[in-house]
Amino acid sequence: MLAMDLPRDNGKPEPPRKDYARAARTFTAWAIVLIAGAYLAAWAWEQPFMAKPRMGWELARMDPPETLSMPVSDVDASRIADTFGAPRGADRQHEGVDIFAPRGTDVLSATPGIVASIRETGLGGRQVWILGPARERHYYAHLDDWAEGLAVGDIVLPGTVLGTVGDTGNARGTPPHLHYGIYGADGAYDPLPLLLAAAGRLEQDDGPR
Ligand SMILES: [Zn+2]
Repeated sequence: MLAMDLPRDNGKPEPPRKDYARAARTFTAWAIVLIAGAYLAAWAWEQPFMAKPRMGWELARMDPPETLSMPVSDVDASRIADTFGAPRGADRQHEGVDIFAPRGTDVLSATPGIVASIRETGLGGRQVWILGPARERHYYAHLDDWAEGLAVGDIVLPGTVLGTVGDTGNARGTPPHLHYGIYGADGAYDPLPLLLAAAGRLEQDDGPR
C-alpha cells in the first residue's frame, strides 16, 4: 500500500494531460444545439407557413399522374375529341385537348399542385399554369375568368376551382372551351388517355352495364 503513495518520478517529463472533462462538456453542448436545431426544423417543416415548400418538395418526388381528374365540371371524358397533335396553322400542332362546355362552367385542377402563373397573354388568353406531380406543368387556357382570390403560390388539389370556361385568346369567337395541356420533361404529351383512364375507373365503380 505504501508503494502506491510514493511519487512517480522516474525522471521523464510528464506528457501534457488532455482535459477530457472539458472536451466532453463541449461535445455535449454541440450535441444539444444540433438536436434542438433538428427538432426546430422538423417542427417548422410541419407548420402552415411551410406548407408551400413542403408541397413543392412532395410534388417533385411524385411520379407523373396515371389518371387525371376531369378539369371541367359536368363533362364526360368520353366526349372529349382526340385532337392532340392536330395541325394548327402552318407551323403549329395542338398541344392539348379542347373541352367544350357552356361559358362560365367551372374549370377544375386535374391534379394536386401549386399555382405557378396566372396571366392573360397570347394564344391562351386568360390562363393558369399549375406545377403538378413530377414538376410537370399543367396549362388551362381560354378562361372566361379566374377563380376569385386565386393567387400564385396557392396549393391546389384535384377539383380545386381555377376559373371558368370561356373563349379568350385565339379562341375568341369559337364555342367556349377549356384548352388543357400537360408539359412534361420531354414536352407536351396527350392528356386524353389519362382522362379516359379516370373515367373508366369511375364506370367500373358503378358496376358492369
Ligand atoms: Zn386547344
